[in-house]
Amino acid sequence: MDLYDVDYPARRRRGLLIVLSSPSGAGKTTISRMLMEADPQITMSISATTRPRRPGEADHVDYHFVDDAQFDRMIADGEFVEWAPVFGYRYGTPKAPVKAALRDGRDILFDIDWQGARQLEPDFGEHLVTIFLLPPSMEELERRLRARGTDSEQVIGERMRRAADEIDHWAEYEYVLVNRGTDECLAQVRAIVAAERSKKVRQTHLHPFVRELIGPQH
Ligand code: 5GP
Repeated sequence: MDLYDVDYPARRRRGLLIVLSSPSGAGKTTISRMLMEADPQITMSISATTRPRRPGEADHVDYHFVDDAQFDRMIADGEFVEWAPVFGYRYGTPKAPVKAALRDGRDILFDIDWQGARQLEPDFGEHLVTIFLLPPSMEELERRLRARGTDSEQVIGERMRRAADEIDHWAEYEYVLVNRGTDECLAQVRAIVAAERSKKVRQTHLHPFVRELIGPQH
């Protein structure tokens, strides 16, 4: 895919694609929100989904809520960088905002599952940073799912089963964190982002800068 072949201004660094995956209830949404607040260079990717809206969720903020026909059309029109079925509904990452963010040198955060991470890998390779959040225990995960109070018993049971399936894919990620506390976990995610931004491959703008520093004769 040519998504990464945008024309970068010479002095701008290349944007990162940060995938944050975890089973639901492991704190991913909280960490994502805090990361966005703490770091204005990061833009959240808003997925499209066929899942019904939960109380408290806003259309075009949490997700683009679409029906099956719209989702089919988006697939047919090549509007997704990736999409996958999750819990009986479909979820997909729209391509246009990813392209725009990369062109502007912004980083993008994806709250997507292992199926999505796997699909982004061949397109973005070294520019993709994958982070998996583990819960401290399955008991804690269940407690957090219940505390949300948004899902029925049946859905919670199903999510606990799916959580184990999701966790099973932890080893496909580059970074794996155990979320024992939001502040500590956020600090770890921010440290990963800072280190990844400092990688040479990302800092294309340093070439002219270093030339100026030491002069053209070197
Ligand atoms: P929820 O319905 O709880 O918001 O999300 C269920 C799961 O779908 C979460 O694990 C979330 O990371 C994943 N998900 C959300 N958006 C996308 C997407 O665009 N693509 C993929 N592959 N997974 C997604």
